Amino acid sequence: MEIIVSFDKCTGCRKCKNVCLYDAIEIVDNKAVINDKCVFCGACIYECGFDAIEITGAMEQEKNFSEYKDIWVFIEQKNGKVREVSLELLTQGKKLANQCNQELCSLVLSEDPTPLVDNLRSYGVHKCYVAQSGIFKENLDEPYAKIIVQVISRYKPSVFLAGATAFGRSVIPKVAAALGTGLTADCTELRISNDGLLEQTRPTFGGNIMATIITRKSRPQMATVRPRTYEAIPSDSRDPDIINIGVKDDLLTSRIKLIQSIKHHGEGINIEDYEVLVAGGRGIGCAENFSLLHELAKALGGAVAASRAVVDAGWVSYPHQVGQTGKTVKPKLYIACGISGAIQHLAGMQTSDTIIAINKDHDAPIFKIATYGIVGDVIDVIPRMLKKLKGSD
Ligand code: FAD
Repeated sequence: MEIIVSFDKCTGCRKCKNVCLYDAIEIVDNKAVINDKCVFCGACIYECGFDAIEITGAMEQEKNFSEYKDIWVFIEQKNGKVREVSLELLTQGKKLANQCNQELCSLVLSEDPTPLVDNLRSYGVHKCYVAQSGIFKENLDEPYAKIIVQVISRYKPSVFLAGATAFGRSVIPKVAAALGTGLTADCTELRISNDGLLEQTRPTFGGNIMATIITRKSRPQMATVRPRTYEAIPSDSRDPDIINIGVKDDLLTSRIKLIQSIKHHGEGINIEDYEVLVAGGRGIGCAENFSLLHELAKALGGAVAASRAVVDAGWVSYPHQVGQTGKTVKPKLYIACGISGAIQHLAGMQTSDTIIAINKDHDAPIFKIATYGIVGDVIDVIPRMLKKLKGSD
């Protein structure tokens, strides 16, 4: 592989030098000269307005992606059931596949694939690639990664999606690294661009900006997506074609052995399971005032959630935290009490069906995404809501 500057076309404008993160370009006699620090990232090629820089050799061959096609979703399972995030990804995958005129495919690796494949029937899956082995009973990275790499190399999907779950976050980077392709982890949005590429959007720089990433130079285009980013909506009933993958025995091994699983017996709350969440932020004032939120949550049949500020302050425990570094939730009703609406908090709740915000600052950013806003002191507003709910007002 070689990177070449055409001196006839180069004007010495320095744009390539300014964009190079590796200090690999010098301007000599008004021409760009590329030194051996170059890692062939290609940033200078896209920046050059004069088509003066090109990479030749192996890279050119890799750029022929014509045999890569279809949108694939890795089906994750827990206790013999398809995890909700996989169904959410099938729903979005179907839309993406329709947009780029490709097929939606799924990959099921399981000790007992039949019930899992049955679960997928109403999600419009064209082809279901299946491998059966007892090794898939436990979520062990090594055999899963080896087989996914083999399957991708053989069938060449254009897009490969998985849930940004603990397992997905662990196994999928190994697959991407082995295949030498890019991976955007923890996406909050996926779209197809005008030129048919997968646009993968995720928060970056501490969640202060959203970055949209595309995979131009390798395949497949891989992304993990946060649970509850999309809704799982069964729409298109069909029996997918089942393709049994013959897996070589040497791939069905793991150097890691699961000795024991111990269930965490902490508070045991999973805020993702509730249709109503009453969330408290720093505006609640102190840990003791959370009793008001518990009362309201109980009256509405919901649970208490929280912003990171109050978790950091020790007012409530981490399993309650909503946001970029907490849980992503999508309840029917989210009541944000004394929460400012920082982008990192919104990342975890803004797709809730109905959002009620209570804040004493009428300019608080939370009001921008709220369905209903109440400007007032939470300590005053919540007791009034409780009175109404109990019919005593
Ligand atoms: P504040 O921003 O202090 O807001 C308090 C609000 O309460 C204000 O709007 C105020 O007007 C209102 N208020 C005050 N008193 C009252 C009252 N009596 N009645 C009514 N309203 C009142 N944050 C998360 O929540 N989740 C995350 O997962 C998360 N991850 C992060 C990751 C990174 C990398 C970083 C850098 C930050 C992260 N944060 C996260 C922190 C985030 O940036 C905010 O600091 C945090 O969300 C603020 O919490 P808050 O809204 O409770 O507090």
